[in-house]
Amino acid sequence: MDAIASRIIKARQYAAERDQRIHVVSFEVQIDGENSNHQVRYNRGEWGCDCEESIRRGICAHIMAMEEIMGDSVQPAMVAA
Ligand SMILES: [Zn+2]
Repeated sequence: MDAIASRIIKARQYAAERDQRIHVVSFEVQIDGENSNHQVRYNRGEWGCDCEESIRRGICAHIMAMEEIMGDSVQPAMVAA
């Protein structure tokens, strides 16, 4: 097997085993909201969003959407009591 073929096989294996292998360290995304756009940030388990709800309660629909998209590769956002 040549080097390129073995890399492709390895890449597919990593992708297929993403729940065990992939752990997101940080990211920032823009979510286009109904009224305005919001920046959602994640850094080593800490979640943040620039919307009013997130600032007041520590969680919002934007963070929850990203949690669902990222699955087991991120730590869950803590819900403020
Ligand atoms: Zn938000």
